[in-house]
Amino acid sequence: MQIDALSLFPAMFASVMSASMMWKAQDRGLLSFRAHDIRDYATDKHRQVDDTPYGGGGGMILKPDVLVRAIEALRPARETPAILLSPQGRLLTHQVAAELAHLPRLVLVCGHYEGIDERVRQLAITDEISIGDYVLTGGELAALVLIDAVVRLVPGVLGAAGATDRDSHAHGLLEGAHYTRPAVFRGLPVPAILTSGHHAEVARWRRRQALLRTWQRRPDLLEKAQLSAEDREWLRGQGHTPLGPPDRPGGS
Ligand code: SAM
Repeated sequence: MQIDALSLFPAMFASVMSASMMWKAQDRGLLSFRAHDIRDYATDKHRQVDDTPYGGGGGMILKPDVLVRAIEALRPARETPAILLSPQGRLLTHQVAAELAHLPRLVLVCGHYEGIDERVRQLAITDEISIGDYVLTGGELAALVLIDAVVRLVPGVLGAAGATDRDSHAHGLLEGAHYTRPAVFRGLPVPAILTSGHHAEVARWRRRQALLRTWQRRPDLLEKAQLSAEDREWLRGQGHTPLGPPDRPGGS
């Protein structure tokens, strides 16, 4: 996968992209990443990239001529999405990350200051993604969040196939609790099932922990999750009546 990010502060990407899995993905040849300076696409002698808004109101707006030139230079193929990081975009979820992880190339556009000239959206942006209902100073941190969420789903990046399968949100539930050595810590023992060696029982326990945690913390997710008849029966046994697909109360 190739990812190009356009930014006024390309140095912001360096530390994140040179550590941990983002570094390994590049080292293994699974990711090619470059941060480009929007200023490099300005043609005047002051390399001006922003200007004051028509109609007043304060703040600076990224100029359409510079930004459209930059996006077009990095996006030779029309199939390559040009994604604007924006608090007005569709929300970044596991499903959106998984959808992007299948693509060979992404161009990410980071706004700054008051935002970008609307004509950039009209002429050169194909998608707009938000990382949450709050406003950041610039799109760089949002782009890094998107890159991390997407790249870890690219096959081979995390090593073992299916390593992301049990993660929270991968299949609509939150992941359950994890434990490691020591077996007892400050009087708190690891659940006995985890040291029993019964793989099928451990898998069932993990599924139930995920159901329980989702019910306690994000009941909205549980209502939409694909639950088996066994899941539903177990939840009912715990006093929860799950709604949602594939069966409804009284329907199973
Ligand atoms: N005036 C804009 C508005 O109200 O929609 C906000 C501009 S914000 C200060 C500057 C830039 O930060 C945006 O152009 C965008 O690239 C980025 N940004 C801010 N919040 C974001 C979010 N929640 N998700 C993704 N990008 C965000």
